[in-house]
Amino acid sequence: MIIIINKDVQATMEQQSLALQRIKDQLYEANYKLTPQREATVQVLLENEKDHLSAEEIYMLVKLKTPDIGLATVYRTLEMLTELSILDKVNFNDGLARYDMRKEGAKHFHHHLLCLECGNIDEIEEDLLGEVEKIVENRYFFKVTDHRLTFHGICQACQTKTSDSNK
Ligand SMILES: [Zn+2]
Ligand SMILES: [Zn+2]
Repeated sequence: MIIIINKDVQATMEQQSLALQRIKDQLYEANYKLTPQREATVQVLLENEKDHLSAEEIYMLVKLKTPDIGLATVYRTLEMLTELSILDKVNFNDGLARYDMRKEGAKHFHHHLLCLECGNIDEIEEDLLGEVEKIVENRYFFKVTDHRLTFHGICQACQTKTSDSNK
């Protein structure tokens, strides 16, 4: 059998194994071990980095890799990763807590664009808020360490759909 892996897939796999190694190191420094269950959970998170999964969704995917894992273990792993700032917990319109990987070296959490028509969530890596933070610090004497920003609106695809149907 010949397995052909295209370059993009290969690059993504390399990135994921680098990220996995980085998380392993972070856990080790905090005196945690990357048990097989934790590793399976982290792998699911890396494979679905852009997806903002809920704990239940993560659990369903981890179960495919490690069938004997329990929801409580997945929850505890997610809490541990959140405490170590590897993950961020985010809330969008549906009231469900979702988990999001913090990008390597990112000083701030990335921003989100939430489409109110199709529910799609895009990410913005640019910080954009440096000036705003300065104003907050100077005017309110509040030391800003991070921020969450979600723009609500209509994504490009939905805008195109609407203008097409108006023709
Ligand atoms: Zn995100
Ligand atoms: Zn949309």
